[in-house]
Amino acid sequence: MLKPSNRFTIELKRLAFEHFDSCTNCGHKFVEAEHYCSGYLANDEPAYLCDDCSGELTELAARIYFIPQPYEIPTANAKLWRYMDFTKYVSLLSSRGLYFTRTDCFEDIFEGAKGLKKNKAKWDSHYLEFFRSAIKNPPEGYRCELSDSEVDEQAQKLLSDLETGGEAHKRRTFVSCWHEGEHESEAMWRLYSSFLANAVAVRTSYQNLYVSLGRDPSIKIGRIKYIDLKKNYAGVNDAFWRKRKSFEHEREVRALLLDFKCQDLGKIVPCDLEVLIEEVFVSPKAPPWFVRLVNDVNEKYGVTVKVSPSELVEEPFF
Ligand SMILES: [Zn+2]
Repeated sequence: MLKPSNRFTIELKRLAFEHFDSCTNCGHKFVEAEHYCSGYLANDEPAYLCDDCSGELTELAARIYFIPQPYEIPTANAKLWRYMDFTKYVSLLSSRGLYFTRTDCFEDIFEGAKGLKKNKAKWDSHYLEFFRSAIKNPPEGYRCELSDSEVDEQAQKLLSDLETGGEAHKRRTFVSCWHEGEHESEAMWRLYSSFLANAVAVRTSYQNLYVSLGRDPSIKIGRIKYIDLKKNYAGVNDAFWRKRKSFEHEREVRALLLDFKCQDLGKIVPCDLEVLIEEVFVSPKAPPWFVRLVNDVNEKYGVTVKVSPSELVEEPFF
């Protein structure tokens, strides 16, 4: 096995992001705890390989323990919707960027939470036991010289760091939320735009959202999983990808990024609007001239995109 160089070009990071659970040579699907190798072939072409194929590498960047993503990735053409009022739409156009909200600014106080407070004791004792066992059983070649009470003290400290870290993480995590669905959603019009007359829905797809944000491997895009917190916890890596069952109707797909420096309540990430916006629908409550207004601002900001009336205003026959 080659010595790891720890050199990761953006091309290698993208390849790893886009093929995160499969070998780019033989297609083998990785399972948890298996190792994979990322590196480069003879012509410096990036490769992301299973151990069996890793002989092809001329440079090994790293051999890594595979941990599955804490979220599912939608199919490339899965339709994603963002409902917003007109001012937010104009801001999207004028800034040419997608607004990511800091997660401690959301109304849902469970954003980033690991469980219900009343069940915390069970969670704490699980992690205390986990930390005690890790301290007492260090890697090969090391010995634990601590007394039981010292082990306890260190385990308590790690648990408290975990909790402080969880709180701080909310201020470093920024997300842009989308609704996944084949069709326009009446419920989402109500929920995200209060059914305003001056609201629009922007439709994109998973692939176009990813490409419009510059195929940036540091921005994760995936589905929220809805869990029953009465019976479950969100794991340490899962917290921002889990919500309570009562939010299931949102069918949320989120783009998520970490920023350790930004102190603002949100941040604008540059976005290629021509790629992002497949079509814009105006509110079912909008007056007929509103389509023209949306077209006018699109033109003002040089964005060519189809604007349509809501499909909900089609007339029935009986
Ligand atoms: Zn392979």
